[in-house]
Amino acid sequence: MIDSHCHLIAPEFLPDVDAVIERALAAGVERMITISDALEDIVPSQKLAERYSFIFCTAGVHPHHASLFDLTKDLGIVRDAAAHPKCRAIGEIGLDYHYMNSPKDSQQRVFEAQLALSKELDLPAVVHCRDAVEDVWTIVNHIRPKKLVIHCCTEKWTDVERFTEAGYLLSFTGIATYPKSTEIRETIKQCPIDQLMIETDSPFLAPVPYRGNRCEPAYVAEVLKTVAEVKGMSLSEVDRITTKNAVEFFQLR
Ligand SMILES: [Zn+2]
Ligand SMILES: [Zn+2]
Repeated sequence: MIDSHCHLIAPEFLPDVDAVIERALAAGVERMITISDALEDIVPSQKLAERYSFIFCTAGVHPHHASLFDLTKDLGIVRDAAAHPKCRAIGEIGLDYHYMNSPKDSQQRVFEAQLALSKELDLPAVVHCRDAVEDVWTIVNHIRPKKLVIHCCTEKWTDVERFTEAGYLLSFTGIATYPKSTEIRETIKQCPIDQLMIETDSPFLAPVPYRGNRCEPAYVAEVLKTVAEVKGMSLSEVDRITTKNAVEFFQLR
């Protein structure tokens, strides 16, 4: 298994990150992508990726912080960070109209600039999309990066089908395990298995039966189980394919 999206440098992991990583390995998680949210995350993520051969990192700024993003200076910082040998993607970037921590227009400018950077650098884009699927699509369709994943996908299939048709991937978290998430499980059912990844988004969104606790990469096994159930496939087959998808997407060789 690969946890394709976790936040190992989050303050929640500060006291025991090495034990968290050990537990992930013990649970069969072979590789983890620790995702940057903000410019301050970049160097700690790189340092962690330097310490562990099986941990990779990203560079990018979340839409929550878009209003503080300087399109010249800060884009240059992301560009420089992307040159790190363990950096495998630009992210997480995107639009979040649910929390609306930054105004829509600044979110859109910052998303578009970082998405264009991912295309220019030939790196995959890790995209956060919350209550904003139409505008995310408009910008993605305009830039057309080579590789992109909609992470923590909670969308209806009819809203994200166009992303898979364009060759992009969908990634699912513990939310897919919640009893009420029938719509998400329908999206999993429809999503071509070759375009599907699993993730925890830890420390958030712990899957059933850990719901309400701190989430950690070891729990990606629960997301795998749900995908296997929904797809009517064996655990080992879904593990093999989703691992291959993540290895190819993030170039984890
Ligand atoms: Zn996100
Ligand atoms: Zn995240």
